[in-house]
Amino acid sequence: MYADIIIDISHEKLDKVFQYRIPEELLPRLTIGMQVQVPFGSGNALRTGYVVDITDQTDYDVDKIKDIARIVEQSVPIESQLIALAAWMRRNYGGTMNQALKTVIPVKHKERLQQKRTVELALTDMVEAKNLLAELTRKHRTARARLLEALLENDRIDYEVVTHKLNVTAAVLRAMEEQGIIRIVSEDRYRNPVGHLTKSGYNIVLNEEQQAVVDAIDADFQAEQYGNYLIQGVTGSGKTEVYMELIARAAAQGRSSIVLIPEIALTFQTVMRFYNRFGDRVSILHSRLSQGERYDQFLRAKNGELDVMIGPRSALFTPFSNLGYIIIDEEHESSYKSETVPRYHARETAMERARMAGASVILGSATPSLESSYRAEKGQLRRFYLSNRAKNASTLPTCHVADLREELKNGNRSILSRKLQELMEERLVRGEQVMLFLNRRGMAGFVSCRECGEAVKCPHCDVSLSLHNNGTLKCHYCGYEMSQVTRCPSCGSKYIGAFRAGTQKIEEIVKKRFPGARVLRMDYDTTRTKDSYEKILSAFANEEADILIGTQMIVKGHDFPKVTLVGILAADLSLHANDYRAAERTFQLLTQAAGRAGRAERAGEVVIQTYQPDHYAVQAAKDQDYERFYEQELAYRELMCYPPVWNLLLIAVTSPREAEAESCSRKLGQWLQEHFSQLSMIGPTEATVAKVNDIYRRVIYLKSEDYGDLVCAKDGLESVLSQGMWRQTTVQFDFNPITGF
Ligand code: ADP
Ligand code: ZN
Ligand code: ZN
Repeated sequence: MYADIIIDISHEKLDKVFQYRIPEELLPRLTIGMQVQVPFGSGNALRTGYVVDITDQTDYDVDKIKDIARIVEQSVPIESQLIALAAWMRRNYGGTMNQALKTVIPVKHKERLQQKRTVELALTDMVEAKNLLAELTRKHRTARARLLEALLENDRIDYEVVTHKLNVTAAVLRAMEEQGIIRIVSEDRYRNPVGHLTKSGYNIVLNEEQQAVVDAIDADFQAEQYGNYLIQGVTGSGKTEVYMELIARAAAQGRSSIVLIPEIALTFQTVMRFYNRFGDRVSILHSRLSQGERYDQFLRAKNGELDVMIGPRSALFTPFSNLGYIIIDEEHESSYKSETVPRYHARETAMERARMAGASVILGSATPSLESSYRAEKGQLRRFYLSNRAKNASTLPTCHVADLREELKNGNRSILSRKLQELMEERLVRGEQVMLFLNRRGMAGFVSCRECGEAVKCPHCDVSLSLHNNGTLKCHYCGYEMSQVTRCPSCGSKYIGAFRAGTQKIEEIVKKRFPGARVLRMDYDTTRTKDSYEKILSAFANEEADILIGTQMIVKGHDFPKVTLVGILAADLSLHANDYRAAERTFQLLTQAAGRAGRAERAGEVVIQTYQPDHYAVQAAKDQDYERFYEQELAYRELMCYPPVWNLLLIAVTSPREAEAESCSRKLGQWLQEHFSQLSMIGPTEATVAKVNDIYRRVIYLKSEDYGDLVCAKDGLESVLSQGMWRQTTVQFDFNPITGF
């Protein structure tokens, strides 16, 4: 048996794996992630390395391969844990070990650390120092006297303060240093993304419901009974306060926590809540940090400078060696599933990491994923409920459903139903705020022909083009653009035009209908520049506008106390997505959007506009009835053998050559039929979008009750593929995919 070993954990050398033979006596004990000593280089000096893989084959000359010298016996370093986690991810989600390692091990950066310089007193004799001060004052050497006086009061002063506030020049400082009066000390400083904030304290006392959850989870924690928990709390029930209390208790015992939040919810407001409680013991990771800043945060975590790391999915790999909790807020969010290989889900990966580390996982949501509810039902997750809003007098909103078919029948052709218009009018008179939510972007949806029914599609991607403000049609997959057409490309009819309205169009309509209202719009187009997202939110929070129109971006994690009406303009748009989670996503979106209304004293109302008022996702969202939705949806999943009841593996075959995509997918399909005939298979077939950017796409779906069967099938297919017959073809595996392909 042979082991793949990396000598140095740094990004550059992850690719560089060295193979060693595993001596018989080490074989039973050696596992992936272990630290070992190996002879290295021509002198065979012993170096420490990490085992990243164990195989029974070697690509090297068997006579020349060296033996592992010994296993390093010591407490398991954090790197070992992360390498073992990478191995688990590769096994359960596919891809190579190298891809998995790059996901879990932070990238080393080459930029230099920032320097922090301080000035301190070198004199140790205080009498001497005071005499010197008197002498300097007498001789009118005021700058020197000023500094010396300040140093007699403070042990050390920032270099910048000395030069800028005390007005002591660099030349004077140098002279004083040479005379042995002062010392200038420089030290490396990690960049701190929250370093500019000021802490203002907090004064929240948990209510009974919250306290009960904290006590129960904390009791397990104190008894070292680490577990997996689900907090199902209605919007505004104070889940974040529960997390913070548990984190604080763990921190008091030297245990650190990771809080995962969807990137879009990582707003200034959220960061401040944590900062007010934990100050500089909290740090954040997000996509706008530079590589160097990210790496610094990982080092700070490793060095024990932090109690909490907040960030999106990738923050899961923060190298805390004393992990207490991993918290996943809004656990139902699709952003917790990686879109690149390995296509891991943060929820399961967190549970595995916590299991290895001896830590607890807390999932939180108002609308838990079917997966988590299903697990809770089967006793694999312990569930707690928070059923009331935390703020005094705040209650859940009243929901109305407006049937858009009826509106049309009654001659209302506007995108705003009469009920919504009426309630908006009321809010504007009372000086309250309104949010209008549309699950779409661009000026108006697709362009279609009313005579033949064809939509104008992208020639490369086989998806409908979207009409933009400047009159062009654009493909959202590949960026292809064409100018607006006046005749149908299929049949030549001139009855061709934009179909449904987008956010820009709605803004126009709203401004026309309510000329006095101040309107803000938040969508992909208005938030492309840095900070624009935060600016729009704070402008709305400061009541600089009456109405905020937006896409799903406005649904997340923001408290607007003055919002008492939420309009959901076309609830069923997301029901048309052609994958099995369409209803679940619609229910979650509607419930979350509705949850924006009435977060403070004034009661909220919600209008759900839809063409399918009887759909169970719409009905359940209207009544804020999670249980009813869950039962119906689970029955559907059971009937169709979909997750979470069964497991689904998507095998995606892509190639610039259509013939290769075809032959490869056909071959894989045949092989599966021969070796895994007990699994149910769909395909091979063309993907929903058969071509993107001139790349051909084929899919195979495998279903099984047992996840392990799918892993075996994947392993088998990987060995078929390793024979290398399809050079230009890529095959990716996606376990329990959350989006269609
Ligand atoms: P969730 O995360 O469940 O949506 P939050 O934790 O954001 O809820 O709480 C919603 C609002 O209620 C926040 O403004 C928060 O400060 C407030 N809040 C939470 N718990 C309490 C409490 N015990 N007393 C007073 N206000 C609270
Ligand atoms: Zn036509
Ligand atoms: Zn395209």
